[in-house]
Amino acid sequence: MVVTGAAGFIGSHVVDALSGAGHEVLAVDAPERSLAPETARRTWAGTASRPGVAAAELDLATDDLDAVAAADVVVHLAGRPGVRCSWGEGRAAAWRDNVVATRRLLAACADRPAGLRPKVVVASSSSVYGSAGGRPNREDDPLDPASPYAASKVEVERLARDAARDGLRTVLLRYFSVYGPRQRPDMAFHRFAEAALDGRPLPVFGDGRSSRAFTHVGDVVSATLLAAAADLPPGVAVNVGHHEPVTLRAAIGTLTGLLGVRAEIRRETPVAGDAARTWADTGRARRLLGWTAATGLADGLADQIAWHRALSSGRPPRVDSADEGVRVG
Ligand code: NAD
Repeated sequence: MVVTGAAGFIGSHVVDALSGAGHEVLAVDAPERSLAPETARRTWAGTASRPGVAAAELDLATDDLDAVAAADVVVHLAGRPGVRCSWGEGRAAAWRDNVVATRRLLAACADRPAGLRPKVVVASSSSVYGSAGGRPNREDDPLDPASPYAASKVEVERLARDAARDGLRTVLLRYFSVYGPRQRPDMAFHRFAEAALDGRPLPVFGDGRSSRAFTHVGDVVSATLLAAAADLPPGVAVNVGHHEPVTLRAAIGTLTGLLGVRAEIRRETPVAGDAARTWADTGRARRLLGWTAATGLADGLADQIAWHRALSSGRPPRVDSADEGVRVG
């Protein structure tokens, strides 16, 4: 099994879970391509030292990918995430590390002899929908990307569907606002928790009325490994999101309550292309994977806060994301 993006937030948890369940993993990343290279290098060192894990530093947009394509399953989480950083100079990086990298990866997998081609689980994003209307987004809703990042994921999805038509078993997972230990430093709860622990105001984009299907990384790992193991229609897209959206204001209330602080808010200009609301219809995930998110926001945030506290106290944070109940093959 290969996991790309293994020095990243979600990828490192997927590797931990696979390693914990006794699988052999080839972990792939190019930590210098990360939005936060220093964090990625630190995570990479931990990932590479896990039992059963071999680590390969490969830039998917330029390097030879034969070793990656030789797997039975590739969980492809490498990429340039984030709406905000995809504007301006970030546009080219989003295209390179999302579209070019995925195109090369799929081509390398398709080049294998029939019968030896890996299944490829590809990370997509709720941002492909744009903002949700008066009901949860279903996978067959029209797509409405509102940023270069979202547009790059729409193109990634098109490539994966085309590859499925040409005989590659691909599945697209549309992740919704993932949080938990090791959350990326550019993401909301990470910035809020660090600010609150430092006694600084919380930097909030917009008025806090936007809502999100915040999804704990442990649930995301379970859905990803279930998708890797299941026999699915090639090219199918599946929402991986918590079924209950929560406003940013309410989430901040939960977070500050758990931290035991009354934090001041510093309002920042809303980010262009950020959805006012994300809302996941989870029927397909339930039917195809038997998955629904199990972690509520208060428990999930408590988990993330424990990680931030450990970080700020200088202790190496312990994260237990091994998910031994999931069989992958
Ligand atoms: P992350 O930035 O923590 O991890 C991505 C990793 O990919 C990084 O370690 C980076 O070094 C690596 N990478 C980037 N370009 C590469 C390249 N050319 N070759 C090899 N490695 C490369 O991001 P994440 O939050 O863990 O997200 C993982 C995936 O899930 C991404 O595709 C992202 O778009 C998608 N996603 C994430 C969320 C979320 O809430 N975190 C939501 C929707 C979709």
